[in-house]
Amino acid sequence: MVEQTLILIKPDGLKKSLTGNILTRLSETKLEIIGAKMVKVSWQRANEHYRHLKDLPFYDELIKYIMGEYHKKKVMALVYWGENAISKVRDICGKTNPEEAESVSIRGAYGRITTKGVYENVIHASANTEDAEREIKLWFAPDELIIEAYPVVETTERVKTEKWK
Ligand code: UDP
Ligand code: MG
Repeated sequence: MVEQTLILIKPDGLKKSLTGNILTRLSETKLEIIGAKMVKVSWQRANEHYRHLKDLPFYDELIKYIMGEYHKKKVMALVYWGENAISKVRDICGKTNPEEAESVSIRGAYGRITTKGVYENVIHASANTEDAEREIKLWFAPDELIIEAYPVVETTERVKTEKWK
C-alpha cells in the first residue's frame, strides 16, 4: 500500500548532529520526501502530538523533551511517501525503548534513557495510517507537501499571518 508517514528528528537528534546520518539511513528505504522543514515546537503542538500519552507519568518530561528544553528548541519534520512507508521507516528507527532497539537501528545506536525515565530516542515515526494522517495534518499544511496527501478544501478565511516586508 502506498502510504505517507511523519518523521521528526527530535531535539536530541539535532543537538547530536545526527541529521545527515539519519537522512542517509532513511534513504535506504528508497521512499520519497514530500515535505521537510525546521519547526520550533509550541506547547499546543507538543500536547496534540503526544495526546495519547497524556496520563502517563513521564508525560510532562516528554513535552519538555520534544519542545527542546534539554537540547535545541527545534525539530526537523519530514513526510516520507511510498510503498509501505510506515513500516519501512519504523524498522529502520527501531523499538521505542532504545535499550530494546536493535543496536544497528537509529534508536538503538543513538538513543538513551534519561535519569528521569524518558526515552530520548532521537527520532519520531508514525506508527500506523491513522497516526500518520493525524500527525501529518498537525505538522504540515497542504501547500507544504509536494503531493496532495489527503483531500483538501479551498478556503477564503482571513487569518493573521506574516509575509516578507
Ligand atoms: N516514551 C517514553 N517512555 C515510555 C514510552 C514512550 O519516554 O515508556 C517516549 C518516547 O520518546 C517515545 C514517545 O514517548 O518515542 C512516544 O511514545 P510512543 O509509545 O508513541 O512510541 P513511538 O511511537 O515513538 O515508538
Ligand atoms: Mg507513537
